[in-house]
Amino acid sequence: MSSRHLGSCLCGDVRFEIAGDFEKFYLCHCSRCRKDTGSAHGANLFASAARLTWLCGNAKVATFRAPSSLHQKSFCMSCGSALPGLQMDGALLVVPAGSLDSPLGLRPNAHIFCASRADWDQHLEDVPRDDGPPG
Ligand SMILES: [Zn+2]
Ligand SMILES: [Zn+2]
Repeated sequence: MSSRHLGSCLCGDVRFEIAGDFEKFYLCHCSRCRKDTGSAHGANLFASAARLTWLCGNAKVATFRAPSSLHQKSFCMSCGSALPGLQMDGALLVVPAGSLDSPLGLRPNAHIFCASRADWDQHLEDVPRDDGPPG
């Protein structure tokens, strides 16, 4: 039995479903993923056999390919949220983990491209934590 995942963008115009299993889950600290997300790292799921279905808003999905690289980002043209996309001529489905609304039940396989990480991206697990807004 394969799994089913639901996701959406921040404005809610785009909704999608993924049927099938993810094979890899990487936290990528490369400079392109840092630009792409505006954060410390990308968090992407990879699947070669899962199927992506747009439930609504597929006309709002745009894809950007970084010049002279394989880095590609699909996003909602209204709100800019990261969305799933097919890469490698459709052979690989790449899904930003944060775009999913359903529980994932997977832990990342690895942090990758750690040599490229931001200078503030060190021992982040030691930074003070609040359960809500800053106290
Ligand atoms: Zn949106
Ligand atoms: Zn990366």
